[in-house]
Amino acid sequence: MIKVEHLSKSFGQNEVLSDISIDIEKGEVVSVIGPSGSGKSTFLRCINLLEKPTDGVITVAGQDLTAKKTNVTKARETIGMVFQHFYLFPHLTVLENLTYAPIKVKKLTKQDAQEKGRELLKRVGLSDKEDAYPNSLSGGQKQRVAIARALAMEPELMLFDEPTSALDPEMVKEVLDVMKDLAHSGMTMLVVTHEMGFAREVADRVLFLDQGLLVEQGEPEAFFSAPKTERAKAFLDKIL
Ligand code: ADP
Ligand code: MG
Repeated sequence: MIKVEHLSKSFGQNEVLSDISIDIEKGEVVSVIGPSGSGKSTFLRCINLLEKPTDGVITVAGQDLTAKKTNVTKARETIGMVFQHFYLFPHLTVLENLTYAPIKVKKLTKQDAQEKGRELLKRVGLSDKEDAYPNSLSGGQKQRVAIARALAMEPELMLFDEPTSALDPEMVKEVLDVMKDLAHSGMTMLVVTHEMGFAREVADRVLFLDQGLLVEQGEPEAFFSAPKTERAKAFLDKIL
């Protein structure tokens, strides 16, 4: 589903990703962890070309996103992204948040988009909120709407950048539960998270980034109980 080959990214003189190569299978759930500033967000943002790689090739669902002739806007439609801060459209209702892009971009009829939107709201447990405005929702509810909105575009791949980091503790679980459900449905997911419980339980694989390098990767159980590198060990000692 995702093939990253020799990805590097610099901002000016500052190289924040160095020669990262990785393959991610369809249906795989991969957690990306590492210290603050290690390049996790930049890595995700390169995968949907919110950042332009300095070097390397990124192929998603068979399409080379880094090729000159690629229509980036079009290619990005197959990739859903959920951020720490939800970025819902404040002037639209919950249901309108979900139907906006499918109508505008996918040319769905309003009726079809609403039907699909309601299904997704049901799936994230927010059927009763379709007419609410984002401001009236809790953080956990907003993030579930953001996930449903991304799913409304029927992405082949979902990227999550610390989706629970801005939430009050009591709202973390409701969002992780939605993500778990999504993982079990076979969605390919790349999840930057500080929720080690999620990484351990749900992820098929963990990637550990440090200073722009993919330092270590492995199965969660093996990685958390016996990290191979000193850097991963030092990181885990600090947070666990
Ligand atoms: P993480 O998500 O792991 O905390 P980031 O990917 O956000 O790390 O950042 C990695 C490094 O890249 C940091 O040193 C950060 O300051 C730098 N960086 C990120 N985005 C930009 C940008 N748009 N311009 C300049 N530097 C950036
Ligand atoms: Mg980040």
